[in-house]
Amino acid sequence: MVKDNGCIFCRIAAGTVPSTKLFEDGEFLCVRDIQPQAKVHLLVIPKENISSLDEAFPVHGHPRHELMGRLLETATKVARQQGLLPEGFRLAINTGRAAGQTVFHLHVHILGGEALGATFA
Ligand code: AMP
Repeated sequence: MVKDNGCIFCRIAAGTVPSTKLFEDGEFLCVRDIQPQAKVHLLVIPKENISSLDEAFPVHGHPRHELMGRLLETATKVARQQGLLPEGFRLAINTGRAAGQTVFHLHVHILGGEALGATFA
């Protein structure tokens, strides 16, 4: 049972905000991004509310190696399930406002379904 603490992704995980869930297990869920930036644009979200990579790998404290490994594995499996391989896909994790992070609950973007430009901006 995930607690709805007001964060949009916590609310999606708790089921209090509707979403298109493509995948869910005890630790992660995958939804379609509501403002797609590519033909396929998915988000893989840990249910635990970790704000960003800065919190996942803190200067002091416990680095979340295992969770991050499983996050990348889950994103790869979902991308494969969604038919993005062997053509390819891009993962992006925005960290901080200057990088464009708008939701301060860790998530990885999966982009694909078309040829993506070589640049990131
Ligand atoms: P970021 O800018 O990296 O923090 O990414 C946040 C992403 O969440 C953006 O691409 C938004 O379009 C997406 N987003 C915000 N609210 C929702 C929602 N309710 N359902 C699906 N995607 C969302």
